[in-house]
Amino acid sequence: MTTLLEARGVTKIYGAGLFHRGQTVALEGFSLRIETEPPTITAIVGESGSGKTTLARLLLGMTIPTSGAILYHGKDLRKLSRREWREFRRDVQAIFQDPYEVYNPFYRVDHVLLTPLKKFGLVKSDREARERIVEALEAVGLRPDETLGRYPHQLSGGQRQRVMVARALLVRPRLIIADEPVSMVDASLRATILESLRTLTRDFGVSLIYITHDLITAYQISDNIIVLYRGSVAEAGHAEPVVQEPQHPYTRLLIGSIPMPDPDRAWSEEQDPSEIGRLADPRSGCKFASRCPYAMEMCLERHPSLYQTERYRVTACYLYREAPVLAGEYLDEAFARPGVAGPAVAASGAVDEPTSSP
Ligand code: SF4
Repeated sequence: MTTLLEARGVTKIYGAGLFHRGQTVALEGFSLRIETEPPTITAIVGESGSGKTTLARLLLGMTIPTSGAILYHGKDLRKLSRREWREFRRDVQAIFQDPYEVYNPFYRVDHVLLTPLKKFGLVKSDREARERIVEALEAVGLRPDETLGRYPHQLSGGQRQRVMVARALLVRPRLIIADEPVSMVDASLRATILESLRTLTRDFGVSLIYITHDLITAYQISDNIIVLYRGSVAEAGHAEPVVQEPQHPYTRLLIGSIPMPDPDRAWSEEQDPSEIGRLADPRSGCKFASRCPYAMEMCLERHPSLYQTERYRVTACYLYREAPVLAGEYLDEAFARPGVAGPAVAASGAVDEPTSSP
């Protein structure tokens, strides 16, 4: 098992130049590794302004970190040779929110599928290209005879997005970074597209980083979930406990705003911050303090560490401060991996239950 892609202590600040007054910290001290094996699905969840799209752009090499580094096979993206950069572009594919933007309306869909095959020299003949394209379209549940030969506007939004998934699959990547891939298609098609993405992991061994504002779709397809709030990790770990029994007050808020089929779990409104939370200064202390109903004095002083509250879960909240701090800097230390034993929690600090329950 080797590391395919790694974010090492990545911070991204916009407006960080000499002549900028206002600075926005989009992402802070983020560390995560995606291994070559086994394939995994990791969801990055957060509201607008959480830093999730910045993270996608950083991982794709579309923007450079203010500090820290993104590494591909252990090498900083900024130091890759031309050949290594080409390999990276093949291994790490992207799927964006609006598939229409990727299409040239004057070319048939075939063009968008042929281009990456030719660019990476992956086929020797037109016949082989056709076979690969048919296989990829079928893998995402599209009928080649109803898709090829058409112009983008002749396909539905869901079909266009599935063509994008097929396109990503064509070059046999190791990792796909999908930024809000289903937010612009209607609900009835969401499940089909998500299933297509899941197929890539299950049948083709492709890992997926699924970036979304929607915790429920994250839960449906992911092994692990990272919840971001204003550029920092609020909670992360195995998808099931994070969604079924959220610990961080922000994750609870996200879950509470989702209508659940379970009648015992009603809609919940955002609660008012505590008296202390109202005094929070956005420049110091816990970033969630000004919205947190449980904010305490200590929350105003320093942003909390990531506490390993369970075997497969970390939470950045002082309510869990009796749990051990995550050993090492990488979030994936706390992730469940298919077929691999999880990280051991030191016996002295092992916790199965929250040390403090609000
Ligand atoms: Fe709320 Fe304090 Fe936890 Fe932040 S650290 S989420 S303010 S209780």
